Amino acid sequence: MYSINQEEQIIHILKESLAPDASHHIMTYGCQMNEHDSEKISWVLEQAGFKPTEDPDQADLILLNTCSIRHSAEDKVYGKLGELKHQKRKRKLTIAVCGCMMQRKESRDCVLKKFKHVDIIFGTNNIYKLPSLILEHYETGRPVLDIEENFQTEDDALLANRYYPYKSFVNIMYGCNNFCSYCIVPYTRGREVSRPSQDILREVKNLVKSGVAEITLLGQNVNSYAPALEDGYSFTNLIYDLAEIDGLKRIRFMTSHPKDISKDLLIAFRDLDPLCNFLHLPVQAGSNFILDKMNRHYHREDYMRIIDQVKSLVPDIALCTDIMVGFPEESERDFEDTLDLVRYVEYDSAFTFLYSPREGTPAAKNPNQIPKEVKQARFNRLTDTLYPIFERKNKQLIGQTMDVLVEGVSKQDKTMLTGRTESFKLTHFKGDKNLIGKILPIRIHSANSFNLEGELVDK
Ligand code: SF4
Repeated sequence: MYSINQEEQIIHILKESLAPDASHHIMTYGCQMNEHDSEKISWVLEQAGFKPTEDPDQADLILLNTCSIRHSAEDKVYGKLGELKHQKRKRKLTIAVCGCMMQRKESRDCVLKKFKHVDIIFGTNNIYKLPSLILEHYETGRPVLDIEENFQTEDDALLANRYYPYKSFVNIMYGCNNFCSYCIVPYTRGREVSRPSQDILREVKNLVKSGVAEITLLGQNVNSYAPALEDGYSFTNLIYDLAEIDGLKRIRFMTSHPKDISKDLLIAFRDLDPLCNFLHLPVQAGSNFILDKMNRHYHREDYMRIIDQVKSLVPDIALCTDIMVGFPEESERDFEDTLDLVRYVEYDSAFTFLYSPREGTPAAKNPNQIPKEVKQARFNRLTDTLYPIFERKNKQLIGQTMDVLVEGVSKQDKTMLTGRTESFKLTHFKGDKNLIGKILPIRIHSANSFNLEGELVDK
């Protein structure tokens, strides 16, 4: 099995050959999994002698960590590779491409054929091998391609350049076994592999020692977490064990599958203080016909039952979802079922998408694709339904004092700080930069569909 230790000698040789100010810049596309992979890649590159830089124009090595979940995500990468071709003509630059797109043969072949200025291609399963790949490219001058089909848990060496010192992502599993009929992930990230619970607990204890207050557990379907050699140990067991860690203030997870969510986990929301009152539970559609076509293995009634249960256990829980409109064969009646479910649940936030066919998935072969204009009109009606619900729910919080983990300075107004409540509501307030990283009480005085505004109060 391959590990970072085997790279030590290569890292030494590579460092010797680099200028002392060699730098890297990573462009990340897609989900939190990719964001966290980029943190690991950044750590690996720094060990190998490439310091991180925010400015791509100054970087000696530019790396695109790609996403293949939607066609538009792939198109963005192709557009960026086109731009980089011009940069590479003007200066010495190494270009690497990695991530889900490169695990997918069709996308990989496209990059190999159309973007010959790309120097290094690797996948999601061999991040720690990057120094070898760079060295090989430098020594031979030729493009280097290295893809591992299967993930090896020992490769997760727990080391990353974490973007925030007080909150952190933690992978608990990789891959997915669900094969939703529209999704490319099981083909790009492979089958589910769960990390041993002791490795996760050790990683989180170390993070807390270094000042991390909040962790987000990552997996495509965390509810089916099942480490090999730990018979019967479940995701809920892991949550209870993590909640015992002294100093860990907040636990979040992403993401869940309704077919696998257990009553025990819903009870944990009520009983465990560190488990945040926020549940992201993708529904995708409100029509049973479409849910069957999507191969989701639950019906709207099952989903609504889970929502009723969690609301009765934790009345102030904030609910978030993923919804896709315009799936093949979706009728007006099916779409109305989605709107009806949205009104029933009363979400606090949602990720909304237009269905986009992914080559290689069963849904892409369905001849009854929905015209783009119909999809767009339904999407607009969906957001017109959702946004007033978000606003009404946020306005209900006016006058309340909520604990906010301060994440940084607002991008829109540099005099404001920004952070998240336990329920994941983005909150702005006036304050000094030295408050970043603290959990502070903020009294909410105004709200709109997407965020809250308040003021710091004395405890
Ligand atoms: S659960 Fe479905 S949508 Fe989520 S990653 Fe797995 S196959 Fe894709």
